[in-house]
Amino acid sequence: MTKEETSAERDDMQIDGREFEHLQVSTIPGGFSADYLKLYYGKLFPHADIYRWLSYGNDGKHPACDHSYFGRREFSFTLENDIYVRFQSFNNAVDMENSIREKCPYKIDIGPVYSVDPAKRHAYAQSGNNVFAPVERELIFDIDMSDYDDVRYCCSGADVCLNCWPLMTISMKVLDTALRDDFGFNHILWVYSGRRGVHCWVCDGRARRLSNEQRAAIADYFRVYKGGENNVKKVNLTGPVLHPFLARSYTDVLKGFFEGKLLASQNLFASIERFQKILEIIPDESIASELLDKWQGNRRSSISKEDVNVVRWEQLKHVLQSGKQKAQGLRRCVEEIIFTYTYPRLDMEVSKHMNHLLKAPFCVHPKTGRVCVPIDPNNCDNFDPTTVPTLSQLLEELNMSGMRSESEDEWERTSLGKSIKFFRSSFLALLLKSCKEEMESLYNSKVKQSKNALNW
Ligand SMILES: [Zn+2]
Repeated sequence: MTKEETSAERDDMQIDGREFEHLQVSTIPGGFSADYLKLYYGKLFPHADIYRWLSYGNDGKHPACDHSYFGRREFSFTLENDIYVRFQSFNNAVDMENSIREKCPYKIDIGPVYSVDPAKRHAYAQSGNNVFAPVERELIFDIDMSDYDDVRYCCSGADVCLNCWPLMTISMKVLDTALRDDFGFNHILWVYSGRRGVHCWVCDGRARRLSNEQRAAIADYFRVYKGGENNVKKVNLTGPVLHPFLARSYTDVLKGFFEGKLLASQNLFASIERFQKILEIIPDESIASELLDKWQGNRRSSISKEDVNVVRWEQLKHVLQSGKQKAQGLRRCVEEIIFTYTYPRLDMEVSKHMNHLLKAPFCVHPKTGRVCVPIDPNNCDNFDPTTVPTLSQLLEELNMSGMRSESEDEWERTSLGKSIKFFRSSFLALLLKSCKEEMESLYNSKVKQSKNALNW
């Protein structure tokens, strides 16, 4: 950043500082407001980090840098009163930051990088050569807890609690492992959606340049859960053996989670409505009704020492997997039940198309006031959505911590600090290093090519 920019930034800070003084009169009340958001974008939102991320190394001085790259990225803003402004673009970091501070969007979405500046798309269309098209986009995944309402009994809709949140945790584990081990991607950013779900951004160059067809193929790779209201059997595992990806997900993550946590936390066998839903998955009616009779006979008193869910699950497994069940479909049924209840339910349409928008990390969710912070996939078991900092909490922290020293950023004094540090050290630094290497090798091979051409 140049000297001029730094002093310009200081001026802004002073203006914001005055507004902030005003708020210090009383403590910050809970909730979400345009005033708070203005302070958040002025003092805490990591503009520079977002800019460096989405520049992918093209903001440097290397001769291979594409200086038009960042300016071809679509941003869309949701303003107060649900005014939705698409196809915003910014020439540089200062442009972006000024626009965000000025418009103070309730939500910022990030779209693809287009062939031309999306803000000037009409001019290109009028010039007759219709070249406006998306050319790059992170491979993205969106998992939303409201898609799990038929397997969780603690909450529904927009609510989450610590009993159902682990469904998101295991989705992250399953997907993250496959994206790294099966597809070889390295630069994967997981972000809490601010309310009830998670977003995944795969940022490797190879992922960003995938065509829609290739994205659809990857989405299909993950497609196990078919869903559908009227479809009793939502998961069909066919073939003599499970695909290695599914087998590994099952053994390493899903089985342990289902048996060790979900069974008891959701009381999956505690009432007839609940266990009947599981029995419907069993294709053999005589087995299903045998178990139903057994459990309806209310023999719970005799097994009171043990968790009824665990006992009934063991009984079901015993019947389906005992030696007398020769049919493969029946033995596979245990796995199908576990997949039905635990396998990641992805919003496929989001992943398949380059031009799908996705909420930017570090936005504040307008309904919860929580910041969309990154989640460490290696430590996702410890992520607790109910303790993610809220807008009002962060401003309160700023308020309480008094004067800042010249050297530190304001966010360092708040609980947002560790999220920004994590974003920088565990994601951004490694990503930019590999962007630089990729750029270097591309440039060298081009130089070599042109030298060879000259030699001829
Ligand atoms: Zn819950």
